[in-house]
Amino acid sequence: MSTDEPTADDVTPDEVSGEETTVAQSDEPVLSVEDVKVHYKPGGIVKRALTDKKVRAVDGVSFDLYENDIVVLVGESGCGKTTLGKTAVGLEKPTEGTVSYRGQDIWEAKENPREAETEFTEIRRAMQIIHQDPANALNSSRRVKAILSDPLKKWRTELGPKEREDTIYRYLEYVDMMPPEDYAERYPHQLSGGEKQRVALGRALLMNPDVILADEAISALDVSLRVGMMDLILDLQETFDTSYVFISHDLANARYLAKRAGGRIAIMYLGEIVEIGPPEEILRNPTHPYTKVLKWSTPTVDPNLARERIQEDPPVREVDVPDPEDPPSGCKFHTRCPEAREVCTREEPGLYDTAGESDAACFRALETHEYWNSDELAGPDDEYGAESESGFGD
Ligand code: SF4
Repeated sequence: MSTDEPTADDVTPDEVSGEETTVAQSDEPVLSVEDVKVHYKPGGIVKRALTDKKVRAVDGVSFDLYENDIVVLVGESGCGKTTLGKTAVGLEKPTEGTVSYRGQDIWEAKENPREAETEFTEIRRAMQIIHQDPANALNSSRRVKAILSDPLKKWRTELGPKEREDTIYRYLEYVDMMPPEDYAERYPHQLSGGEKQRVALGRALLMNPDVILADEAISALDVSLRVGMMDLILDLQETFDTSYVFISHDLANARYLAKRAGGRIAIMYLGEIVEIGPPEEILRNPTHPYTKVLKWSTPTVDPNLARERIQEDPPVREVDVPDPEDPPSGCKFHTRCPEAREVCTREEPGLYDTAGESDAACFRALETHEYWNSDELAGPDDEYGAESESGFGD
């Protein structure tokens, strides 16, 4: 990592740098998520049997991921980003809609293999996941060498023991674990959190995947290590031609990843993508009022801005997130949205082109929508009806 790259503290919506990657993205998507819904009954067996209610964890989401692309899913806890990520890589079956790998419906490949052009086992290999907590993902009773041997024994059967060992050492070098002969003999408890996450990244790359789902993969690391891990992921993206669905609650990290990789940020709220676009557009010129809320709640290193924010109320009508079992009618954000008007309580917005480069699920993106003649909603308590303490962020 060069010395002029940003520290974690620099990576804020106000200030970001870092060289953009130069690998071209493909014309055809490697992964297509089309109108995907994941609904399930909440609670345990008894509650599920007694209720007709459903949690709409993901509620009509579409996006494409191209080769060498990154889409960072950002939102508050419980917004559905992890469920969407798992559904996108075939770990969870959608209730409705399709997920396709290079044009092949993943679930058709699994359930109707005779009709499929791509085998499900090949799709499984091509889609890997890095979890938030590598300690749970790595078998504590096995050495790093044994952990990394498993995918090679399964997918690279042509390799003999010596070639397998050489490959493991090479991948440990890729993830900056030097000397590899030393790290290969260690158990997970002999590694730091950052080193465990590097082993998890190396294991995922050993499968030569097309897509990696990184589920809060840097959240458990010390702040001082996060930029280094993000840089390693981005450098190896160029080496391995891999695409990422990255899940983060942190808009600053999302911006860093998406900006360097020429990717997009997708803002999620109550199971829907409410805005998607290039990081600079999302951060500097957000269209959706919820994107503005996330930006407002992201820590800043600018002392003046930080001071201003302490004195401001959060830009919402209500701080509390609605019950996902009983979401609001119309636009799901209308109970919290400071711009909400009467039409927002009964009509659901689609994802519209904005004047900038993003798409946003807000009537305000449409110059001629009836929204502009609709009655404003009265605030619950005061101008915004907001409480004084912010409930945002994790
Ligand atoms: S559609 Fe209405 S309630 Fe929804 S985000 Fe836009 S202004 Fe707010």
